[in-house]
Amino acid sequence: MTQPDESFDSPFGTHHPSLTETDAPARIALDASLAAVITINEQGVIESVNAAANRLFGSREADMVGQHLRNLMTSPDRENCAEYLAKYLATGRKNFIGRGREVMGQRLDGTIFSMLLSVNEVWLGEQRKFTAVACDITNLGKAIGKLEETESRSRAILQSAADAVITIDERGEIESLNATAENLFGYSHNELIGQNISLLMPSPYREDHDNYINAYLRTGQRKILGISRDVVGCRKDGTTFPMELAVSEAKPGGQRHFTAIIRDITSRKAAERQLKYFASQLQERNLELSRSNEELERFTYAVSHDLKSPLVTIKGFVGRLQRHVEAGEFNEIEDYLSRISNAAARMGSLLDNLLTYSRVGRVVNPHEDIPLADLAREVIELCDISIQDRGMQVTLNEQLTVIRGDRFRLVELLQNLVENSVKFTKDVPNPQLEIGTFTKWQQTVCYVRDNGIGIEQPQQQHIFNLFEQLNREVPGSGIGLAMAKRIVESHGGRIWVESDGIGSGCTMCFTLPAAENSSS
Ligand code: ADP
Repeated sequence: MTQPDESFDSPFGTHHPSLTETDAPARIALDASLAAVITINEQGVIESVNAAANRLFGSREADMVGQHLRNLMTSPDRENCAEYLAKYLATGRKNFIGRGREVMGQRLDGTIFSMLLSVNEVWLGEQRKFTAVACDITNLGKAIGKLEETESRSRAILQSAADAVITIDERGEIESLNATAENLFGYSHNELIGQNISLLMPSPYREDHDNYINAYLRTGQRKILGISRDVVGCRKDGTTFPMELAVSEAKPGGQRHFTAIIRDITSRKAAERQLKYFASQLQERNLELSRSNEELERFTYAVSHDLKSPLVTIKGFVGRLQRHVEAGEFNEIEDYLSRISNAAARMGSLLDNLLTYSRVGRVVNPHEDIPLADLAREVIELCDISIQDRGMQVTLNEQLTVIRGDRFRLVELLQNLVENSVKFTKDVPNPQLEIGTFTKWQQTVCYVRDNGIGIEQPQQQHIFNLFEQLNREVPGSGIGLAMAKRIVESHGGRIWVESDGIGSGCTMCFTLPAAENSSS
C-alpha cells in the first residue's frame, strides 16, 4: 500500500484563502454536496476542499490544502495525474480534463478505494483553476460487478433455454435471439439481427404481422400480447412447423421492446392428433359395443321366442299323442307325428340359420377387390332356377363399381337380397330385378331393386331385426336381412331400404368399402 505523502501531516488553516465572506453561500452549498469537490491550481496543488472531500479522504481541509492532487491517488494514477495535467497545460490535450476517469483513490490513513474522478477547467477572471469532483465507487463497482454477473448468468440461461427467445423493437426488428432460436429457425444469429420478425412466419401471417404491430401501437388493442397462442413458424428452408408463441412487452429506459418466447410444439401436436385419433377409435368401439349389446338383447329375445314356438308345438302334440295312445285311439297319430317332425325340422333349420348368423363377423376371410358385376352374375347364376321360375327380368346397371371385402360373405349378402326380391314379387305381373349403384352423400351406394310388394314406411326399420317377418305366409326364417345387415356392418358399411309402400316395390341399398386399387 502506498503511504500518503508526508506533507499530509502539516496543518494548514481551516479557511480557503481564495474564498471571501461573499463566497459563504457557495461554500455552504459545496459543503452540502455529496460529491467531493476539490479545487486545484495549474500546478495541481489543492486550494480548497468541501466537507464531502474530507469525509471521502478521512482528512481535515487543513490536511489537504497545499497538497498535490496526485497525493489522493495511488500509482500509476498518481504519476499519470501529474503528467496529464502538465501535458494539458503544454499542449491542450485532454487526457484527464473534462472527462470522468476511474482511478484508485487513497485516504489519509493509506486505505485505497475505487474512485471516479472528473477534473474540469474553470477561469476566475485571468486565473485558471481546476475543480476535481471525486466519488467513492467501491459499492458502485460491486453493484456493477453483480449486475454483470447476473446478466451473464441470465444470458447463459437464455442461451441454453429449451425455448427460443427473441426480442424485437417497436418496428418488429429483431434485436437479440438465443441459440435455441437459431437452431429452431435454421438462421445464424447475424442473419436474423435487424430483420423483421415476420421473416419467421409463413404467409399470410407474415403479411398480417406488420399490420398487427401497427394496429397495436396505434390502438393498444392486444391480440397476442400476454396470451400464449399456437401459431405457425417458418424455417429458413421454407418448411413450416407449429409453435407456441408468448409475447410480452417491456419498456426499459422508456423504449418499447417485445420479447417472444417460442416453443416448437410439433411433437405435442402429433401427440394431440394421435390422442384425438385414439379417442375417436375408442368412441367408435364404444358405439360398436353398444350396438352389439343391443343386437345381443334382440337376438336373445328373438331366439328364445322363435325357438320356443316349435318346442310348444312339439310338447302339445306329444301330450296329445300320449293321451290318444293311452285311450287306444290311433287315428290321428300319424298326423301328430308329422306335426312333431315338422316342428323339429323347423327348429333344426332355425338353429342352422342361427349358427350361420353367428359366424358372420366372427369368421373373416381375406378381403379382396371384387367388381360388383362379377358378384351380381355369380348370385344370379346361383338363383337362376327361381329367377327363371318367376319369369323375372334381370338388369345390371352400367355404372357397377369395384368393391372390397370378404367375397364369400358378399355373395351371401347379395344372394339374400336377390332371393327376397324373387320371393316378394310372387304375384307381380312383370317381375323385375335390377342390381346397380348410384352416388349419394359422395359415396357409392349399391342396390338391389324389385317391383314387388314393397314395404310400408313404419316397417322399414324393423325388417333388419332377427326373425322379423312382415309376411308370415311367405316362406322364410326372418334371418336373411339380419344376416345381410351383419355382413354389411362387419365391412364398415350401412344398409337400408327405400320403398314407397305396399305395391311399389323396394330397393335394398348398402354401402361397402371401395376397392383399394380403384378410385370409385
Ligand atoms: P325372410 O326369411 O322372411 O325373407 P328376411 O330377413 O330376409 O327374412 O326379411 C325380413 C322381412 O322383410 C321379410 O319377411 C319381408 O317381410 C320383408 N322383405 C324383405 N325383402 C323384401 C322385399 N324385397 N320386398 C318386400 N318385403 C321384403
